[in-house]
Amino acid sequence: MAVNVEWPEGKKFAICLTHDVDRVDKKWWHSLYYFLKTGRGYHLKTLITKYRQNPYWNFGRIMELEDKYGVRSTFFFLNESKKPQIFNPKTYPLSFGYYNITDPKIVEIIKLLDEGGWEIAVHGSYDSYKNIRLLKEEKKTLESVVGHEIIGIRQHYLNLEIPTTWRLQKEAGFKYDASFGYRRDVGFRKNKIIPFKPFGDEDDFLVIPTTIMDSALFYKYPAFESAWRRILEIFKYAEKNGALVTVLWHQRVFNENEFPGWGRIYEKIIQEGIRRGAWFGTCRDVYERFK
Ligand SMILES: [Zn+2]
Repeated sequence: MAVNVEWPEGKKFAICLTHDVDRVDKKWWHSLYYFLKTGRGYHLKTLITKYRQNPYWNFGRIMELEDKYGVRSTFFFLNESKKPQIFNPKTYPLSFGYYNITDPKIVEIIKLLDEGGWEIAVHGSYDSYKNIRLLKEEKKTLESVVGHEIIGIRQHYLNLEIPTTWRLQKEAGFKYDASFGYRRDVGFRKNKIIPFKPFGDEDDFLVIPTTIMDSALFYKYPAFESAWRRILEIFKYAEKNGALVTVLWHQRVFNENEFPGWGRIYEKIIQEGIRRGAWFGTCRDVYERFK
């Protein structure tokens, strides 16, 4: 593939760190559901108020961690409005257990992140990938929370109808989408190793592919060592080809009890990226490079 990318300061490849904020509270039914599913006593324990320190609220942990290495990331906030179908329990996870984006607790953390140099972007609700009204509304609501323009979006579940979703996102005023990637695998989908412009070079709308998503990585490579080996392969490939590695780590997985090793691998990704001399940027920084 003949692409010539130049990353700042002569860096050989780049890493874009991102977080999707799906859930921020572990509800009692999450605890029960996961206990029944996995049989792990830990989940029952989180049902009892005494032990509940809300394992799904990890903003402070992530900020501290990234601060330690002098890097920043993009946080995609969800504003789910999907109504459940009462007689179809399969739809429940798509409708229940989310959060209200105008909840003072959420508003506070969004502002804190924004002021600290993190990027705030829209995590498009489940049906929004084909709904211009939802895209516009969700952008507007988040902008009113943060107090300035939002330029980016990633669709929940990486829902994507190509090219319809990109056309609608652009029409809604977004400048980039970060939904292009694998749900059940990691690596460069369609060998897109750097961001691309789906409507041609004259148009600034950018697709920033997602390379490594936490759940997909551990789905395919459940053991820590094999997961890490796969990441190293991706890094080596990226280094050789000047690629952008976009990393998606859900906000709620930074609790070691429920997601053993997930937070640790995220930190190793940053350390290894620094060791190999990668350029780090948020999605907005990447967009600015390609504009
Ligand atoms: Zn999501």
